[in-house]
Amino acid sequence: MREKAVEIVIASGKGGVGKSLIASTIATALRKDFRIIVGDCDADTPNQKIYFSKYIYDEEKRGIKASEKAKVNAEKCINCKKCAVCPYGAISFNGHAIIKEVLCEGCGLCKIVCPTKAITLEEVENAEMIKYETELGIKVISAQLKPGSSGSGKIVDEVKKACKSEAGMRKADLIIYDSAAGIGCPVISSIKNTDYAILVVEPTPSSINDMKRVNEVIKQFGIKTGCIINNCDYNAEMKQEIIQYCTDKGIELLDEIPHDKRFIKAITELEPAIIYDKTLEKYFRKSIGKVKELLNI
Ligand code: SF4
Ligand code: SF4
Repeated sequence: MREKAVEIVIASGKGGVGKSLIASTIATALRKDFRIIVGDCDADTPNQKIYFSKYIYDEEKRGIKASEKAKVNAEKCINCKKCAVCPYGAISFNGHAIIKEVLCEGCGLCKIVCPTKAITLEEVENAEMIKYETELGIKVISAQLKPGSSGSGKIVDEVKKACKSEAGMRKADLIIYDSAAGIGCPVISSIKNTDYAILVVEPTPSSINDMKRVNEVIKQFGIKTGCIINNCDYNAEMKQEIIQYCTDKGIELLDEIPHDKRFIKAITELEPAIIYDKTLEKYFRKSIGKVKELLNI
């Protein structure tokens, strides 16, 4: 029996290039042979649910405390203004220090400099975690940052923790993390400690540039990587540039997916692309094969 679920992450750097499509497709393609959990690691704009909406029959919500905010005890404050060093401009004064919560990042600097220990850091609920059960047997776990809150990286840690705990209970084989865009904290949290990374890129200058940046992050963790070129027919020259980059960096070239309106149709039908149209599965042949290979180790 498998000791722990295989964990793969789908990342791209640039948003909107097909990460969620690919995560939902691989999960759907393998659902009959493996127990699968999909972790939506984009706490700012989670959208994995959309791909499974038609098949969700139950959801469970709970608040997450993955952020801290400074609090001032006005009775202890001597209005010395040393805490004005706040790098985020979150502190003003009116007889005593006042924290503007929405600007506070919980860095703790004010607490360190305060001579009277008037400042404490308190945990605050900054997101909601939602777990979806689907008729496909795939469990989707996501979290949504509360408007005006910070701490997406820690929220992703919470999502991954929940995925692993669920995987342990269900004896799941595979966890697929659908990373956020960018190369910041949520992306680093999504990537760390995974077994394999799939980069998604389109043959456009911004997508290629962002894919290279996120690959630098993946390299720091020494994770083996594959690449999917989505909308591969946009630009032949840039597609070639991607292939050359992958060759130079030892990145396995997985699939090349052409632009196909049926992918958009599937989203509007709120279902995984390969359920909307089974014939679309041919575009994901190598990626699905690669994940199967990882699962059969
Ligand atoms: S914890 Fe950091 S961000 Fe928040 S008020 Fe203090 S110094 Fe500013
Ligand atoms: S450093 Fe402490 S005592 Fe001084 S103004 Fe800020 S909260 Fe008040």
